[in-house]
Amino acid sequence: CSFVLTVFLLFGCTEKESNAASSGPKDIKNIKVGVSVGHTQEERWQREIDMFRAYAKEHGFELLVQSAENNAQKQVSQCENLINQGIDVLILQSLDASAVAPIITSAHDAGIKVISYDRFALNCDLDYYVTFDSFKVGVTQANFVINKVDKGNFIWLKGAAEDNNAHLVAAGQKSVLQPYIDRGDINIVLEQWCRGWDPNEALKNVENGLTLTNNDIQAVIASNDGTAGGAIQALAAQGLNVPISGQDADLAACQRIVEGTQTGTVYKPLAKLNRAAMELAVAIATGKDPQSSIDSSLGVWTTLDNNYKQVDSFSVDVIAIDKDNLYDILIARDKFHTLEEVYKNLP
Ligand code: BGC
Repeated sequence: CSFVLTVFLLFGCTEKESNAASSGPKDIKNIKVGVSVGHTQEERWQREIDMFRAYAKEHGFELLVQSAENNAQKQVSQCENLINQGIDVLILQSLDASAVAPIITSAHDAGIKVISYDRFALNCDLDYYVTFDSFKVGVTQANFVINKVDKGNFIWLKGAAEDNNAHLVAAGQKSVLQPYIDRGDINIVLEQWCRGWDPNEALKNVENGLTLTNNDIQAVIASNDGTAGGAIQALAAQGLNVPISGQDADLAACQRIVEGTQTGTVYKPLAKLNRAAMELAVAIATGKDPQSSIDSSLGVWTTLDNNYKQVDSFSVDVIAIDKDNLYDILIARDKFHTLEEVYKNLP
């Protein structure tokens, strides 16, 4: 009897040990990372998907990517699908900051950690956030404009109301504009969110502002390059060229900056953000220490409040770009665009 018990214990123990070994840290070649983006409307998102793919290919792991194309419900079901496909980590660019909590719950139920990418997931037990400082983006944008004109009628175009970044950007813009508004130097004749960051919404909003004032507009605060493009189209239709901001360093915006129809843009080094997210995802999936996994030259660790908890966050710095430093930073240093692309509309 004691012999039987000994054999049983031995086998039991051996089996447990082998289980522990097989569910232990995974090799990078065996991991699966899921990426969910809200849309690919702006140039940056497609670039970032390409970067995610290149990183996964280089390191030999599987990457599954989904784009919800502006449908928040679709993003939830696409993420369920990624979870069911056995991903180890989910990188999530929240389309609607307040509607993604169920995604985090489902992921956790399946033992999967979630990294919010660029856009914060609010009111949920999020694991990590990798981002740019959107408040600083807004401050930079308002300064572009204020440095050119600090009096008169302004149109204020905010981003998509459901995107937390749009609120942070607007708060940054407001921090610069408010003293001028209080003194009565600046009159905000129209203040509007642009649904889905849609350039056509921006175009219509600016048309309304121009009609309201009989074309008496001195500046436009635009929250990204896409909406700046729509706004500039509406201004140009009335023969106007006024100071206007943007963000993302989209090619079209860079062309407008050198042509003189857009004042500046905020460059977000996407390659850094992308690499930070990938390094973090790999560390989580392979059982390494997340905090020391991201190359410190890419940014800094901090904590940010998502209305539920303080989330461990990694922040990458942004750079103000105007016609004076566009060539040096975007073309020569970072090769974000080529000289030929940017200057192709100029003689
Ligand atoms: C991003 C911007 C982008 C916008 C529209 C924001 O959340 O921070 O870079 O232009 O979404 O996609």
